[in-house]
Amino acid sequence: MNKRIVVLGAGISGLGAAVLAKKKGFNVFISDNGVITNQHKAVLLNNKIEWEEGKHTMHKILNANEIIKSPGIPDDIDVVKEIHRKGISVISEVEFAFRYTKARIAAITGSNGKTTTTLLLGHILKNADYDVLIAGNVGVGFALSLAERDYDFIVLELSSFQLDGIKKFRSDIAILLNIKADHLDRYNNRLEEYARSKFRITENQTENDVLIFNADDTIIDKISTKAKTLPISLIKEIDEGGYLNENELIININNKTMTIQELALQGKHNTFNSMAAGIAARVFDVKDSVIRKSMIDFQNVEHRLEYVLTVHGIDFINDSKATNVNACWFALESMQKETVWIVGGVDKGNDYSELYDMVRDKVKAIICLGENNQNIISAFKGKVETIVQASSMDEAVNQSYSLADKGDVVLLSPACASFDLFSNYEDRGFQFKNAVRIL
Ligand code: ADP
Repeated sequence: MNKRIVVLGAGISGLGAAVLAKKKGFNVFISDNGVITNQHKAVLLNNKIEWEEGKHTMHKILNANEIIKSPGIPDDIDVVKEIHRKGISVISEVEFAFRYTKARIAAITGSNGKTTTTLLLGHILKNADYDVLIAGNVGVGFALSLAERDYDFIVLELSSFQLDGIKKFRSDIAILLNIKADHLDRYNNRLEEYARSKFRITENQTENDVLIFNADDTIIDKISTKAKTLPISLIKEIDEGGYLNENELIININNKTMTIQELALQGKHNTFNSMAAGIAARVFDVKDSVIRKSMIDFQNVEHRLEYVLTVHGIDFINDSKATNVNACWFALESMQKETVWIVGGVDKGNDYSELYDMVRDKVKAIICLGENNQNIISAFKGKVETIVQASSMDEAVNQSYSLADKGDVVLLSPACASFDLFSNYEDRGFQFKNAVRIL
């Protein structure tokens, strides 16, 4: 009889794993205790995959040979505990899909900058006419794409939750961008546990692989690996790897140096991301000229320091994806003009003190946009002259427009999740852009 694979969670990664498993001849069952979208049901139906929703039927799950668990499902719920008690192997979609590709893989993780770096590297490889799949947390599903066909190259964005479910997954290039406090609720509020899960990106790498990492990050600096390391720094010179010299990016690999002067993306953090993508492209033998050209014609990703409009001399910038303090620090750092800052939402225990100097230097007014703004108000009271509160995006944008003068910038960079007033960060960003357009 065919081996049975049970997939828990019918989101994009679960669905993809189920379709790939079915194509590979397994007996597949997918179980979701929430609602499965009609679109996903249609795919399941098309592929003749059995499913259930609104429940997990234990006897249909515990007879699996292997279980693919979606990264959104925590380990401490009863179903998963029972599966572990029975000793059934539990893997992630990434681990499963990895078994069915011969591609050279670049895997990217970190607290901030994953999507930008993934898309930028994908863009360079496409400009080099490589046969490349961009997948993972961004764009299309990894397994779902492999169910269609294999590729020569794969650029994969990986969250720490996805890394938690790997066993043999190995990438030719691993990129570890940074480790900052985020999602700590899933890691017993311990930064070390969260860091350990990010470090797994290199655990199966060999001497023939490459690890590109942030040499300025004091946590990452302690990583151990078998791979060849190519560190990146914005503050010191690096022998082999990448660093910033004045405004020039220097990439040095195997005693060959390349320099990059022009970047489409603004901000120090993006200089860093560009260097990471540039080094990876170099390792994959892309020509310097193609890398340089791609750095210039890359289109910024929506909701990440996205310039929206200038209204009566006031620039409006949408950085709705900044859901933690570190992302916000880099956004403020890159502001060249006096700034009216829209901030707030669901605060995951933020420590705003890291932002004090930056805010003192750059911010003339703060608009708090959240259901509960107390933490922000107490953090910045006395440090910024004007602090006001808004209860909708329209109100916040109107307030920002009257507080800003010609030549100023209004920055939406919330440092918080969006679930109190918006359905997600995209909704928050769209509402911001709409409100700006009707000013
Ligand atoms: P992720 O996929 O890791 O969430 P994104 O590329 O979507 O990363 O960017 C998320 C937020 O972090 C944006 O506000 C962006 O401007 C900011 N950001 C991007 N790269 C970095 C970086 N290297 N360090 C800190 N913040 C960054």
